[in-house]
Amino acid sequence: MTNYKDYGVIWDVDGTLLDSGELHFDSWVRLAGDLNKPFTRDDFRATFGRRNPEIIRSLFGEHYSEQEVADLGFQKEEYYRAAARSGLSLLPGVRELLANLHTAGFKQAIGSSAPRQNIELLMELTGIESYFEAIVGSEDTQRGKPDPQVFQVAAEKLGLDPDRCLVMEDAVAGVEAATAAGMASIAVTFVGHHLDNDLIIAGAKRVVKSLEDVQVDTIVELLKIND
Ligand SMILES: [Mg+2]
Repeated sequence: MTNYKDYGVIWDVDGTLLDSGELHFDSWVRLAGDLNKPFTRDDFRATFGRRNPEIIRSLFGEHYSEQEVADLGFQKEEYYRAAARSGLSLLPGVRELLANLHTAGFKQAIGSSAPRQNIELLMELTGIESYFEAIVGSEDTQRGKPDPQVFQVAAEKLGLDPDRCLVMEDAVAGVEAATAAGMASIAVTFVGHHLDNDLIIAGAKRVVKSLEDVQVDTIVELLKIND
């Protein structure tokens, strides 16, 4: 059996490994409530996946100091972590694919715009820590997706060239980031915030409804490992 240790799979978290969208929505509503501001579904759709400081300034005002913005972002994540502790599960097919890739020898990393503390908590709550050799969170990057930085840093941490890494994503901005990094990507539409066609235009090599439809062989094929 081929050992795939010279190849990597880099995972987005929200919408790909799990659906924490509702937990994020609820935690933004709580934070907005603290500030006596509204936070609607439209606000959520318009800002999901962006970094907290950008969201806070665009929704709650430009007048906050950097420290205030950092404190508000921390409070929002505290609300989020409290909600996550009360219930969270992986999306269909995720656990099997992580385990099968690990057994086959692939290196795996997280490439997310979420704070590291959240990522570690989610991994611990779902019992998947042992499958990953690197975690890249918001502290490790200066620019959010669609900038390729998050995936470039993840590949560096794995010690792999970009063309030996494949990205698992659910969002157009994330697929664009993978494409800009020179990496193949698979887009999953289970949570369904993005249209198949937009994901393909962004550069996704394959769009699937669920990760139950992705096998180790799919990734071997897309990375052109045996060509
Ligand atoms: Mg995502």
